[in-house]
Amino acid sequence: LRILGIETSCDETAASVVERDADGRGRILGDVVLSQMEEHSAYGGVVPEIAARAHVDALDTLIEEALLRAGVTLNDIDAIAATSGPGLIGGLLVGLMTGKAIARASGKPLYAINHLEGHALTARLTDNLAFPYLMLLVSGGHTQLVLIKGIGDYARWGTTIDDALGEAFDKTAKLLGLPYPGGPAVERAARTGNPDRFVFPRPLVGEARLDFSFSGLKTAVRQVAQSIEPVTEQDVCDICASFQTAISRTLKDRIGRGLSRFKAEFSGQAASPVLVVAGGVAANQVLRSTLQQLCDSNGFRFLAPPLDLCTDNAAMIAWAGAERMAAGLPADGLEVAPRSRWPLDADAQALIGSGK
Ligand code: ATP
Ligand code: MG
Ligand code: FE
Repeated sequence: LRILGIETSCDETAASVVERDADGRGRILGDVVLSQMEEHSAYGGVVPEIAARAHVDALDTLIEEALLRAGVTLNDIDAIAATSGPGLIGGLLVGLMTGKAIARASGKPLYAINHLEGHALTARLTDNLAFPYLMLLVSGGHTQLVLIKGIGDYARWGTTIDDALGEAFDKTAKLLGLPYPGGPAVERAARTGNPDRFVFPRPLVGEARLDFSFSGLKTAVRQVAQSIEPVTEQDVCDICASFQTAISRTLKDRIGRGLSRFKAEFSGQAASPVLVVAGGVAANQVLRSTLQQLCDSNGFRFLAPPLDLCTDNAAMIAWAGAERMAAGLPADGLEVAPRSRWPLDADAQALIGSGK
């Protein structure tokens, strides 16, 4: 199968052609990502209106480029896969409408893909990975621990009750006067900082539920920064390093509990259990080594796909389409609409339906 993927849910415009062979092995034939980072950096965050316009300007050329790099034409493509949620509605409209237009003109089926499913299945594109496995998604918009049981079969075990982890990095950076995006800046500053100088809160640590909470961290950072006058460069480095310590300890507890639950539920399974990480925060070395150690001591294999596949891209969307098609799941009708909110699992949907 050869699938053309389109991704426009946030601040990356991306197109990709991915192949899936009969044995389930994946290969990226052509892949292009255009980051809008520069357009948004002056504002310290993603501006939806600017994002939508930038997607309109770039998408057609990117699709042509992806096909060109793959050395194929639309005739060689079996289906179109476009992200249709969750995300910024303007961007989603641009990508999904473009996908529909190509599907309509070429007579190929269209798969409307959940962006989170793209992240969830990426590890099966890069590695020979069987179900079930656990995924930790840590990006600017999401922080979730999800059980991946099969194609279209997901159970969200934990989620953030306030800020996403990447958001916590971005907001902390802003407070400290560091540039956007905050994650890389905080990590850089932390390298020469004292990780034990400040004790920041570790919310929900010790609780049985698997959720996360990060909004208290930025408040604590603000208070500490205000208590020091003047804040030196070294203070900033110490705050960043201590901030990462709090996150590392929190994740150790939260994810540790998730690994235990996985072992308890799938104890009869022969293969060694796997934890996959996805999302832009996966670039963080402290986070990586924390998860690696945690997996080592729990008998888990820790799997981190290459960074350009952890952050937003269209290869993961094309791959999700390929997996759906190979599994015999139906394509979507051209009346399908984008959804700014679209939880990955049925339980979460029921929760939203009940007004919680
Ligand atoms: P979505 O949640 O919809 O996928 P997004 O664009 O916010 O959207 P990504 O592009 O996957 O998500 O990740 C961006 C986030 O990752 C930002 O919050 C950024 O600060 C964070 N990030 C990037 N590098 C690092 C790093 N080295 N350490 C910590 N955080 C990082
Ligand atoms: Mg992004
Ligand atoms: Fe994403």
